[in-house]
Amino acid sequence: MSAKADVIVIGAGPAGYVAAIRCAQLGLNTVCVDDWVDPQGQPVPGGTCLNVGCIPSKSLLESSERYVQALHELGDHGVIASSVSLDLERMQARKQRIVGELTQGIAQLFKANRIDWVPGRGQLLAERCVRVTDSAGGTRELSADHIILAPGSLPVQLDAVPLAAPQVVDSSGALAFTEVPRHLGIIGAGVIGLELGSVWRRLGAESVTLLEAQAEFLPMADTQTAREAQRLLRAQGLDIRLASRVVSSQSVGAKVEIRYQEGEAEHSAVFDKLIVAVGRRPNTESLAADAATLLFDEWGLIHVDEQCRTNLPGVYAIGDAVRGPMLAHKGSEEGVMVAELIAGKAAKVNYETVPSVIYTRPEVAWVGQTEQALQAVGADYRAGVFPLAASGRARAMGERDGFIKLLADRATDRLLGAHMIGPHCSELIAEAVIAMQLGGSSEDLALTMFAHPSLSESVHEAALAVDGRALHSMAKRRPR
Ligand code: FAD
Ligand code: AMP
Repeated sequence: MSAKADVIVIGAGPAGYVAAIRCAQLGLNTVCVDDWVDPQGQPVPGGTCLNVGCIPSKSLLESSERYVQALHELGDHGVIASSVSLDLERMQARKQRIVGELTQGIAQLFKANRIDWVPGRGQLLAERCVRVTDSAGGTRELSADHIILAPGSLPVQLDAVPLAAPQVVDSSGALAFTEVPRHLGIIGAGVIGLELGSVWRRLGAESVTLLEAQAEFLPMADTQTAREAQRLLRAQGLDIRLASRVVSSQSVGAKVEIRYQEGEAEHSAVFDKLIVAVGRRPNTESLAADAATLLFDEWGLIHVDEQCRTNLPGVYAIGDAVRGPMLAHKGSEEGVMVAELIAGKAAKVNYETVPSVIYTRPEVAWVGQTEQALQAVGADYRAGVFPLAASGRARAMGERDGFIKLLADRATDRLLGAHMIGPHCSELIAEAVIAMQLGGSSEDLALTMFAHPSLSESVHEAALAVDGRALHSMAKRRPR
């Protein structure tokens, strides 16, 4: 390693490793410091997303969905699968294999791009120096012209529900259960709670109870979409209890008992396992020495401007540790932007078009403004909704629940938001993202030809519905 690098990246999650790769592509001599170790104690890149986040959760969601299909749905297709059974050990091994392949892939990319990957914990010092402490406690100091901080986030813990008891786990623990819990409790009905609840319900948990402090379900989503999601997920056996704040927990033999407040009333519930999924916090404790004078906000997020510059010249911060949604793709795009800025190019992230997805069944996805946000500011808009029950492809798939909704400015027709619930909405949302990124209108989508039969046609129909002319459904929401 050269004494002084062009760039030191702290963190090799989707924000940091992407930043490092783009820096290297742009000819910058790049070092990436990361302290993640796998269950065997070996350093691995990939951060939360690859090791205990996006990838393992989607692996289990996929496997558990196949299980449910084999158990309950193939018969409708005339496919008779008798004696279907669950091999959880194999399912977990598959998940771990996928994680291993992908993290090794990042290590290969580092090598191919001549990125110096330094395992250990990095701390920002003054004057763009970084002290790295390795697992044996040894330290060394590196310096660079530019530093990119990408330390990511950690699960929020509740004082009232300590993880010390073996029955109580965070999202990482919930991805690694070796038995299906009979009665599962989840604190927090956010994205992670719903995805994990879906996995274990599908795999056979007799009850899955989600306790959510807020009175509104998925308040960040479009209200119509959130209501539909709540109805469909409840029908699958997810017992979602809103306005229910967990205040204490205690072990009772091999089980855990919690107490929660619902308005004035206090209730208790007993579970075999309890997942704490109440959000994530920036992993910024001891990231910077006092002498570095790095600015944080009151939640521990690193203070940055629109282009991820911190208060220190040449020091940038990206990903979950800065403002904005805690999403892998948002961090990766910030990583690319910062690398290009360092290389002297013009770059920015379009924060108006960050897609959000909940990988339940059906999937929920959205981008841009919600209908309630537009109403709150008195915006003049038109909405087009197309129910998937009217899609030939959705029916052929046996997935008729859900809808596609597009929102467009009444005067200019510019797309303002898209809200979807249905099969493959994690993919369908990209159509709306691209249209919005290009400054498109509902008319642009209406004039585009889509293959038949496909789910994408429903986006086309929703665009037609904005103008009250959907071809395959009766206009429920006539334009005002
Ligand atoms: P991280 O991925 O957290 O990586 C940060 C890395 O930096 C880690 O390796 C950490 O060990 C290391 N590090 C921290 N501090 C230091 C230091 N001082 N020195 C050295 N190394 C350090 N997002 C999605 O977009 N889609 C999903 O489907 C999705 N599913 C999720 C499911 C679960 C169960 C969870 C928990 C999260 C999920 N997320 C998902 C969120 C996603 O994982 C994060 O948004 C993403 O990982 C953030 O990337 P990052 O690079 O900012 O941080
Ligand atoms: P998210 O931030 O999307 O992962 O969601 C976490 C959810 O946990 C939020 O909706 C919080 O309202 C909820 N939450 C936080 N603390 C508690 C608590 N003590 N009891 C129940 N729900 C909680």
